[in-house]
Formats: sequence, structure tokens, C-alpha cells
Amino acid sequence: MLDTLPFLNKITFPAINRKSINILQINLGYRCNQQCLHCHVNAGPNRSEEMSHEVLIQTLEFIKINHIKVVDLTGGAPEMHPDFIYLIKTLRNWAVKVINRCNLTILNEPGYEAIAQSLADNQVEVVASMPCYLEENVNKQRGNGVFESSITALKKLNQLGYGDKGSSLILNLVYNPQGASLSPEQFTLEKDYKQFLAEKYDIIFNQLFTITNVPVKRFGSMLISKNQFTPYMDLLQNAYQPENLEGVMCRYQLSIDWQGYLYDCDFNQMLDLPLEGNGQRLHISNVSSDDLNNKEIIVSGHCYACTAGKGSSCGGALS
Ligand code: SF4
Ligand code: SF4
Repeated sequence: MLDTLPFLNKITFPAINRKSINILQINLGYRCNQQCLHCHVNAGPNRSEEMSHEVLIQTLEFIKINHIKVVDLTGGAPEMHPDFIYLIKTLRNWAVKVINRCNLTILNEPGYEAIAQSLADNQVEVVASMPCYLEENVNKQRGNGVFESSITALKKLNQLGYGDKGSSLILNLVYNPQGASLSPEQFTLEKDYKQFLAEKYDIIFNQLFTITNVPVKRFGSMLISKNQFTPYMDLLQNAYQPENLEGVMCRYQLSIDWQGYLYDCDFNQMLDLPLEGNGQRLHISNVSSDDLNNKEIIVSGHCYACTAGKGSSCGGALS
């Protein structure tokens, strides 16, 4: 795997500071039933990194003490963590909003078939990867058979009430470009997705989020190996929109890895750019949100992925 950080560090990006922590994004581990080309985590079936029960309890304590209102679960496939159901139930009992970043196919895997019902029972918001509404494009990026399995999972979620305007169960889909390009306009693409998926598969959902590919891990390595890294960085930098700086997710979020270490965002986690104090990595067990608010964020060339064009975040376009 080729490391993009030495190249990214040569690119300057404006200084920004955190405002407050409204969302805690927890990466439960790097294990995944898929192995997608665009993955910025380098997740896959052979990864064994997984949050221990001890760190999970420390994380829950942080959430309670610091009155965190929204938790965003990611991975790998977060549903593969053995404490996944315990975690979502505990958070929902505390009235914390829970967002689950779901690759859809996990909902059909043996041993995980009951997860969709648990998500619905606990009113968990689902943000599901669906990088295109065309079968060929999805399978090319995410693997053979992924599109068909994703459609099966979406139907299962719809049957449970997800995506229905009259229901409180929210189902949002995520689009990301197939390669080294920017996303089309989010609202226009959402209309196309809604029309195509409804007409062809009778599938409904709430919103589409367009997310720019970030040049780290598997995607970054692929760009370097195909000599596309510099043109892609040029594309991102030329499309820089300063007004997007206000809404970049690191200003309102904190990311935690499977070992309990803290980062400004999931991308900084993957680039191993941890938050530090007194030369030590900050750990969820010994910080409070007050220690982190207003602190300078660690930026590098990859941050242009968040500020290019309409901007990009875990919740889609910024403007
Ligand atoms: S992109 Fe998502 S589904 Fe694909 S390998 Fe990475 S974590 Fe798994
Ligand atoms: S990659 Fe985006 S979210 Fe992460 S630090 Fe840079 S601007 Fe913030």
C-alpha cells in the first residue's frame, strides 16, 4: 500500500479550529465483509482490529459525561462488532441519536440477518453506501454481486419502514464518484436516484449524500499507482471554495479509533495524524470535550477533498 501522507504534507491548507463537539464518530474496527476499491480505511475481511469492551465502556463514559447528543458508528462494517447491539441499545436508552454507516450487504450476511430489525427497533438512522444506481458501476467499485445484495437490503429496510416519509426511520444513501472526479450536484443526483430506484426496484429513501473520495489508503494508493494523484490533487485545489471551511465536519466532530485514540476526523485517523497533548496521544479515557473545543485542527492536502466544489462531509455536500 502506497502512503500518500508525504505528498499531502507538501500541500498547504488554511488553518482551522474546532468549534464544539456535536458528533462523536466511533470507528469500531477495520473488519468488513467487503473490500471496495475506493475504501479510505483499507477495510476488509482479513482485518482483525476491533474495539475492546474496555475501550467501548470508556467511550460510553465519555459520551455520558460530556453530554454528546449524536454518535456516528463506522468501520469497516460496524455491525460486525460483537457489542454492536449492546452499544446502540445503551445509546438509545440515553436518548442519544445514533447514525449507522452501513454497507448494506452486511444485512444479508449469515449471522447478521437480524441487524436490520434491531436498527429499526432502536430508531437508528441508517446512512447506506450506494455509489451508483446502476449495477455495473456498483459492482466495479465494490465487488461482484454487491449491487444485487444492496437492493435486497434496501428492500428489507423499506419493509421495516425506513425511508417512508410518514416514518421516523431515516434512510440516507451515499454516492461517491467512481474515480478521480468530483460529485455531480447533490440535489439533482438525488432526484435521479429516487426516480430510478423507485421505478425499477420500488425502493424509497430520504436523502442522498454526495461524498468526495479522499486520497488516503486504498484510494490514495490507487491514484499514485495510476499516476492520477497529482491531477486529482490539482482538481481538488482548483475547485477550492473558502466558504466550505465553515462547515467542514472536523469543526463539530471528533473521531475515535478502535483503540480509543482521538483524531479530528476519520481521514486523519487513517493518515495516523492523532490529537496529542504534552507529546502523548490523547485517549478517550482521559480527556473532556472542554480540552478539545477551539483547538487547532491538523490539516494537510487531503482537506481539499472537504472543500472542493460544493464541499463534502459525512452528511454530504456542504453548500
Ligand atoms: S468502503 Fe465501506 S464497505 Fe467498502 S471496504 Fe471500506 S468499509 Fe467496507
Ligand atoms: S479531511 Fe476534512 S474533516 Fe478532516 S481535518 Fe481535513 S477538512 Fe477537517
